Amino acid sequence: MSAALFLAKNKVDTVVFGDDKSAMNWALLRNYLGLPEILGTEFQKTARAQVEAVGARLRADRVASLSESDGRWQVALEGGEKLSAKYLILSEGKGPRLAKQLGLEFDDKLGIATDRNAKTKLDGVYVVGRSARPGRSQAIISAGDGAAAAIDILSREKGEDFLDWDEPPKS
Ligand SMILES: Cc1cc2nc3c(=O)[nH]c(=O)nc-3n(C[C@H](O)[C@H](O)[C@H](O)COP(=O)(O)OP(=O)(O)OC[C@H]3O[C@@H](n4cnc5c(N)ncnc54)[C@H](O)[C@@H]3O)c2cc1C
Repeated sequence: MSAALFLAKNKVDTVVFGDDKSAMNWALLRNYLGLPEILGTEFQKTARAQVEAVGARLRADRVASLSESDGRWQVALEGGEKLSAKYLILSEGKGPRLAKQLGLEFDDKLGIATDRNAKTKLDGVYVVGRSARPGRSQAIISAGDGAAAAIDILSREKGEDFLDWDEPPKS
């Protein structure tokens, strides 16, 4: 959701797949800086609305499989629909089936290896959140990982380091 926020607000065509069966729905967040206390479900609701408002498309479909062809990532949905994308940001939680299907190794303690921008060894594939840090999974860290992945994609697309800065109106 965090990655989608950065990408969509900067006019990158962004689709989020998933049924919102996030572990956040069981959390009472008291450790998310800037939010003294909020139910995880309430947080998800606000985040989803925020991301949709900047133009990302949220789809409840589950992804059945991923593959690569013609230099793009092919996404097959459980209903049979097929799409393709230049980049994939995977945040499958603690059981990263799709990432493993792409050949990324998952270690129960260390998760999937990524660099500090959430990049994996596969060009254009990022893994964020619980899949990359199963033993140290915290909401704000997952959101930060997603933001780092998005900034990396935006920087690649623009060909230079990208900063997402908004300023208040002058008057
Ligand atoms: C009981 C409980 C309490 C917690 N309390 C806190 C807390 O107080 N503070 C805190 O910081 N963190 C807390 N957490 C941890 C927090 O929930 C996680 O750090 C965070 O949800 C990780 O985000 P994620 O996106 O990596 O994974 P998840 O939130 O697990 O999301 C993964 C998503 O991917 C979807 N998905 C998986 N496979 C597919 C597929 N093939 N196609 C489409 N979608 C798919 C799932 O349905 C799910 O919605 C708590 C967790 C639990 C369980």
